[in-house]
Amino acid sequence: MSDLAGKGIIVTGATRGIGRAIALEAARCGANVAFNYARSDAQAAELKEELSACGVKAMAFKADVGDLKAAREMVNAVKKEFGAIDGLVNNAGLTRDKLLVMMTEEDWSEVLRVNLTGAFNFARAAAFIMMKAKRGAILNVTSVSGLSGMAGQVNYSASKAGLIGMTKAMAKELGRMGVRVNALALGFIETDMTAALPEANRKAALEMIPLGRFGSVADVAPAAAFLLSDAAAYITGAVVQIDGGLAM
Ligand code: NAP
Repeated sequence: MSDLAGKGIIVTGATRGIGRAIALEAARCGANVAFNYARSDAQAAELKEELSACGVKAMAFKADVGDLKAAREMVNAVKKEFGAIDGLVNNAGLTRDKLLVMMTEEDWSEVLRVNLTGAFNFARAAAFIMMKAKRGAILNVTSVSGLSGMAGQVNYSASKAGLIGMTKAMAKELGRMGVRVNALALGFIETDMTAALPEANRKAALEMIPLGRFGSVADVAPAAAFLLSDAAAYITGAVVQIDGGLAM
């Protein structure tokens, strides 16, 4: 288990799936955890209780990642309560899958707004605090769709490829100020997002995965905690694939 004792960590989009697992893992590793979400009030209340039960501080915010003002307000409130922001996980994301010729301007801009601008907004707000403290780790949750491209995901692939470029540019900019920036490029992980896939697509995807199964959130959360921890002190600008070998 990674050591995150006493660290202050923000996870965006933690009411469900991967974000929820990362938030809980961070709390089990000793971090105070703040998270946001878009709609799921009941799940947020439940997660806050589960985090507190780990014996750490927990904060929940209903805040759209696409809103820079809301990101700033949340980050400042967390800094005030936790004393520091040592880690930021840009996890919130969504899909609006359609073939290019069917994709509306709204499908395009909503995915870019949440997946890419959302990460910019939180990094923009948190980096300032991390730079002043001369320490911090940012982790951007991207996808093999951003590495290889996926048919039906022109908007999503663009947003996730953008996150990879953003990760490397931020790593180069912030490294000398003690701030590390990495990305997790995930394959098919069992969550609400992949549950929406048609059975034929799931079958076709399974055939392409060398390890022969979809991943679970438990395959992701410990790697996230490691990259946030001081054990990863010399790792920055890395895009760590957790995909069962899908995108080799
Ligand atoms: P999920 O189960 O659909 O959960 C998405 C989370 O993001 C929810 O907590 C949701 O909050 C939150 N969210 C959505 N829009 C938001 C917004 N505008 N502001 C704040 N929070 C928002 O998704 P997941 O599968 O766990 O995916 C998490 C991340 O991993 C995403 O970035 C996704 O692209 C990436 N990823 C997933 C897979 C996979 O196979 N599952 C693969 C590669 C990458 P509400 O509950 O309030 O809606």
